[in-house]
Amino acid sequence: MTYNTAQNGFALPYWHDHVSMPQLSQEALPESVDCAIVGAGFTGLCVALHLLQAERSVVLLDAMPLGQGASGKNGGMVGPSLHKLGLDGLKNIYGEDQAYAILQEGMHAINYFQQFISAQGLDCDLHMTGRFTGVHNQQQLDELALKCEQFERLDGFKYKLIEPHQVHQEIGSEHYYGGMVYHQDGGLHPYKLVTQLAQKVMQLGGQIFDQTEVLALSKSADKHRLHSSKGQITAKQLVIATNGYSKRFELANQPHFKRRVIPLTSAMIATEELPPATINELFPKARMHGGNHRLVQYYRPSPDGKRVLFGARGIDFWDRPSHNSANLKKLMTNIFPQLGDTKIDYSWCGKVAYTFDHGPHIGQLTSNQENIYYAMGYCGSGVARSTYLASRLAKQILGETDFHTAFHDLPFNSRPFYNGKPWFMPLVLKWHGVLDRLGR
Ligand SMILES: Cc1cc2nc3c(=O)[nH]c(=O)nc-3n(C[C@H](O)[C@H](O)[C@H](O)COP(=O)(O)OP(=O)(O)OC[C@H]3O[C@@H](n4cnc5c(N)ncnc54)[C@H](O)[C@@H]3O)c2cc1C
Repeated sequence: MTYNTAQNGFALPYWHDHVSMPQLSQEALPESVDCAIVGAGFTGLCVALHLLQAERSVVLLDAMPLGQGASGKNGGMVGPSLHKLGLDGLKNIYGEDQAYAILQEGMHAINYFQQFISAQGLDCDLHMTGRFTGVHNQQQLDELALKCEQFERLDGFKYKLIEPHQVHQEIGSEHYYGGMVYHQDGGLHPYKLVTQLAQKVMQLGGQIFDQTEVLALSKSADKHRLHSSKGQITAKQLVIATNGYSKRFELANQPHFKRRVIPLTSAMIATEELPPATINELFPKARMHGGNHRLVQYYRPSPDGKRVLFGARGIDFWDRPSHNSANLKKLMTNIFPQLGDTKIDYSWCGKVAYTFDHGPHIGQLTSNQENIYYAMGYCGSGVARSTYLASRLAKQILGETDFHTAFHDLPFNSRPFYNGKPWFMPLVLKWHGVLDRLGR
């Protein structure tokens, strides 16, 4: 199979093939800034935007070409992304009140996200068409209904149970027995969002240096010194926004973050262009889709309504299109057998950051590492969460009082013998695969 391939060593994501990146900073690194940000995905770019609007000087440094991190390559699906542990899992650890406070953050995130996109005038094909989650039998449908009833206490949570006879109104597939529609979900074009954020940052005087890896950090007096592949820079404040790439481009003397996030490969394919009738048959309401699999699968029509975009855990550690594509096509045709002869035009992958407590983290390092701020660990659902947490992190950096989120209270823990390489994941993924098959 042949794919559209890029020339800079990365597989070409569908999103990158029709949107151009603005010209980034070409000059030398400045000597000193108020705030330096490592990582120029949604987290880094959004923190930068808020700080620039508060008239701080900001530099963003990214090891890869801008948009090659997860932010420029993801499924573009947004929603409340209520915590992976669900109410019962959270209640067992934190008690009922804190559990609901953590879940409510998901609603805050998606509400904030929509306001942010519209207030900043970001044209990224955002359409809140809702999301359908399919299940395979009555027991699973009852369990899902019970979960949703528990979430009714959340301010603004809206859902609709889809009975077996209604499934074809949601999806052109025999794969599901029933399901749930979540009304606060939608889709966007992630690379358009990255390019527009980058443009805004630069218009406000921020500098973005891509293909500039930060290799190590040091501290002199009250300033941070960043040692990068393009020279050194000092900053009063430092933001680490490296998410799933914290290990790949590890900071030589700052192991804190790579020991706390678990990088996982998420991979996607885009089909060739399909007739409008086929897309309408598969996605009659242009919703976002996913099943209740432990090994996540997600799919949607492209924003222009011409292709199917399908994603799942990548089985290949490296960004080799042919390795992931065959598996993704198999999963896709399992749901949509009508796509058996459809050609795959694009195949790509990126890194998401899982955490040991299944949720995101935000805050400031204490003691002698003070003024290092971070937000990361979105567990594969980071489009809305990262922009929301970036806004709160910026408030914290600016010394505003209303920055606090329920995630600030959660300890960001590692595990013994974990150094950023998820050696245990092949076993976990195998086990999840078995549970998925038993659940069918
Ligand atoms: C294939 C795929 C599909 C996804 N689908 C969805 C979805 O549909 N919905 C959703 O909500 N989420 C999705 N996600 C997750 C979402 O994309 C991420 O959670 C989000 O983009 C994280 O943004 P970020 O800015 O924190 O990290 P990233 O965008 O990954 O940016 C981190 C950056 O840090 C840089 N970096 C790391 N270390 C250094 C260093 N030492 N020096 C300089 N730079 C460094 C990296 O180069 C990278 O560009 C998906 C992810 C992938 C990969």
